[in-house]
Amino acid sequence: MSFDRRLLPAVSVLLADPRASALISAYGRSHVVDAFREALASLRAGKARAAWGELTPDRLQSAVLDAARMTLERDATPSLRPVINATGVLLHTNLGRAPMDPGTLAGAARIAGGYCNLEFDLEAGERGDRSVHCARVLSRLTGAEDAVVVNNNAAAMVLLLGAVAAGRQAIVSRGELIEIGGSFRLPEIFRTSGVALVEVGSTNRTYLKDYAGAIGPETALLLKASRSNFEMVGFTADVEPDALARLARDTGVLSAWDVGSGCFVDLRPYGLECTTTQSAVASGVDLVAVSGDKLLGGPQAGIVVGKRSAIARLKSHPLMRAFRCDKLTLALLEQTLLAVADGSHERRIPLFRMLALPIDELERRSAALIDGLGGSDGAGRADLAAVAMSGRVGGGTLPTAVVPSFGLRIRPRYGGVEALAARLRTAGTPVVGRLDDDTVLLDLRTVLDVELEDLARALDVALGDRVVAG
Ligand SMILES: *Cc1c(COP(=O)(O)O)cnc(C)c1O
Repeated sequence: MSFDRRLLPAVSVLLADPRASALISAYGRSHVVDAFREALASLRAGKARAAWGELTPDRLQSAVLDAARMTLERDATPSLRPVINATGVLLHTNLGRAPMDPGTLAGAARIAGGYCNLEFDLEAGERGDRSVHCARVLSRLTGAEDAVVVNNNAAAMVLLLGAVAAGRQAIVSRGELIEIGGSFRLPEIFRTSGVALVEVGSTNRTYLKDYAGAIGPETALLLKASRSNFEMVGFTADVEPDALARLARDTGVLSAWDVGSGCFVDLRPYGLECTTTQSAVASGVDLVAVSGDKLLGGPQAGIVVGKRSAIARLKSHPLMRAFRCDKLTLALLEQTLLAVADGSHERRIPLFRMLALPIDELERRSAALIDGLGGSDGAGRADLAAVAMSGRVGGGTLPTAVVPSFGLRIRPRYGGVEALAARLRTAGTPVVGRLDDDTVLLDLRTVLDVELEDLARALDVALGDRVVAG
């Protein structure tokens, strides 16, 4: 709709409008002025709505004030919000990977809410090292001599390579030049760290003699990287990490293993199988790198455990300062590791609580949700069924593993699945599920106990008004 731009009010006129004073006292004058300018600019750009009818100066002034109020309200609301994960993907990277336990969060809040001994040795009364807090429990858990913690495993690998191999060569199998989602590509990490990549073997088969033949005076490291998010089947051959570690020792170079998944407990009771960090350390490699927010179920972090002398090189590298974690992360991580160490992980780490949920409990929850929505026809709004489904571990771990689950299959009677999914995403507490043909699937394994009520409410609202018969 075109209108005479000269009819737009000046900022000074808007500020004098009585409706502006409430905005100014709530949000501050300069923020309000910015919001007015933004609203005026978008009107000038022709974003006037036909619904406003004839654009009189009064109407335009009200329109600017309304648009400014909406901008100010939006700016004052946190953009980062809780979301109900009904995708069945336990470690959904886009949804924040591992959820944290309220008790763990409360413990961390007590530490971060005040001062703490982050870098202060209370016994000696002098400056300490922030890595020691998690290093103690990591050594106890894995048998490694020492440990260092950084912001994530990508940072851990940049640091590791830079600290032990910068300006020299590291040897990697062609079958392990992995890419993890979000732009972690091993060859690029090498370039970032200033390490020359020496590829050996072929995509599907690499032997110990390939590594041995490539070792030269410039070699600093033999690196193994786990294929976290894909699997190779068929005519394949890999070098066992203990053989790689032995070769490195015999030739006077270091060995490292980017394990990624960060599993510290036996997953077989949950029907899953994964290299544990303990077994990676036991293989004898000098350094093992894992994520904190994958199968440990902790906060985002990168953990490197290994030989004391090698860890010392990481700790004294200038990048350590750039990659170090803050007190909140370290507090969360230490408490998560302590829960693993004392065997209370199923109670204190939500990831394991979710994995341990019996299928008949999920079935019962599905049936209860359907009852609450008015039965299998959702009171005339949708076809609802409690069905078995397959969840995933996610987060770039165990790519082919299936987690048996149960949840809701919803076929809306009005408006289609895309619209229903969109209404769920914009609910008071947003709900993210999966689309499957003309149905929305909500997997209940990844919905926390405390979220069930919010999920029921969101569903009821998203399905719309009950259709009155007749
Ligand atoms: C996940 C993963 C990474 C990246 O870890 P982030 O903690 O997500 O940065 C690196 N290497 C491997 C093998 C991984 O599985």
